[in-house]
Amino acid sequence: MKLTIIGAGPGGYETAVKAAGRGIEVTIISDGPVGGTCLNEGCIPTKSFCRNAEVLEEFLRAAEFGIDCKGYSLDFNKVVERKNEVVTRLRNGVDFLLKGKNITLLHGRAVLKDSRTVVVKESADPLSAGNEGIEISSDYIIIAVGSSPSILPVKGSDCNGVLSSTELLDCETLPARLCVIGAGVIGLEFASIFKSFGSEVTVLEFCRDILPRFDTDMSKRLKQALVKRGISINNSCRVQDLSKNADGSITVSYEKNGNISNVVADKVLMAVGRHANVDALNLADAGIEFTGKGIIVDENMETNVPNIYAIGDIVGGMMLAHVAVFQGYRALDHILYSSCPEESVSAEPCDNIDFSIVPAAVFTNPEAATVGMTEDECKAKGLDVKCLKSFFRANGKAVAADETDGFCKIIVSGDNPDSGYAKGEILGCHMFGAHSSDIIHEIGSLMAVSATIDDMKGIIHAHPTLSEIIQAAVQE
Ligand code: NAD
Repeated sequence: MKLTIIGAGPGGYETAVKAAGRGIEVTIISDGPVGGTCLNEGCIPTKSFCRNAEVLEEFLRAAEFGIDCKGYSLDFNKVVERKNEVVTRLRNGVDFLLKGKNITLLHGRAVLKDSRTVVVKESADPLSAGNEGIEISSDYIIIAVGSSPSILPVKGSDCNGVLSSTELLDCETLPARLCVIGAGVIGLEFASIFKSFGSEVTVLEFCRDILPRFDTDMSKRLKQALVKRGISINNSCRVQDLSKNADGSITVSYEKNGNISNVVADKVLMAVGRHANVDALNLADAGIEFTGKGIIVDENMETNVPNIYAIGDIVGGMMLAHVAVFQGYRALDHILYSSCPEESVSAEPCDNIDFSIVPAAVFTNPEAATVGMTEDECKAKGLDVKCLKSFFRANGKAVAADETDGFCKIIVSGDNPDSGYAKGEILGCHMFGAHSSDIIHEIGSLMAVSATIDDMKGIIHAHPTLSEIIQAAVQE
């Protein structure tokens, strides 16, 4: 069996590796370096910056721990250089992995010719006359071409110095003043990092709360923690326009409660969301249904054109690397299942992946994490719920480490006959505080087996650990 995967981000390359392991002949096509947004300009480079920020914060607080460190300077070029080294190392790892599995990697732009044929060309316009390209025929095609940063349709958003997250990662100098438009995941991660680096950071957010898709209780408390660190966060702001000043700075003008105010900054980060790269392929010509939000797929990630699947950011929804990977596994499972002559093609998903349990983390300082339904989502479904809370300030390990800013909220089902949820079943967890991004997985795992609060009460946690935060909430 032959499989062509368009896009070598985590969704594309992880699926390629798994497919090759199952004996499928795989070709993967990428118009950029392997690893996609996650590895080259998203999760990994930002985590490299996060680590610099963390080291710097520890250094600045060293005196509180009786360590006398006088004077410091941050070499921002070194920060970027280290980030590039981290990215290169991991990218080489992906290349090595693909080679080791005998996966054919083609560099170039791909477009769909028909339901079984992909044309790959090096030119920016793969269908231009005189550019024949290479035709790849296969039994199945998986589209995993990702997303791109969105830009606000306001005057001046193309000013020099208004950057996407990708561009800010390669900034040559540290901006003394950074204005971040959008308090979503990207905006807040960069706001937190650049605050640690020493920039004066102002965040402008359209919605009433930061991280609008997260639990409101959690996001309100996280906002307080970020403001305490000196980040200026303005909610309910509508950015009107941006303009370049004679000294090179940028003025961002915004409206709030009917009043117009300005923020002057040296760089502006535009972090107002990402959009699926639906223009990247000739989807309409190939008969593939899509909207502005992404390619339309069924629960097996198959498009309306049989044998063509789409996974990751290109299908919209939760634009997360780990979601893309598991969507790829789902598509592959379906391909393997439907290619068995004795099986029915219209099979239900034959794996145990549960896309309603997706942990997500925000790498601010302190970091935040979430899994399952928020309290508002539960209320919107008419569910009777109970919220159990605990605080990092009451956790021994957190106090010893002086990481007392943080909170954990576990949402459990009350009496909800006919809902499918047992009384006491865990429906979600929302937390912020040190190592939340690791701790959250305990709740995700318990949700996967429909555990209840009574099940949790009997699970011993080692002392002293931050994981006891979970036990503390349950024992309340
Ligand atoms: P997002 O949708 O998370 O946040 C965008 C924010 O911009 C929202 O809060 C929105 O209200 C705000 N906004 C929109 N228009 C605005 C305006 N005119 N003025 C002010 N604010 C405005 O998008 P993002 O932060 O750009 O991230 C894109 C995607 O990448 C998301 O799906 C995110 O989950 C994903 N991502 C995940 C991680 C992670 O898992 N750690 C990290 C980075 C990105």
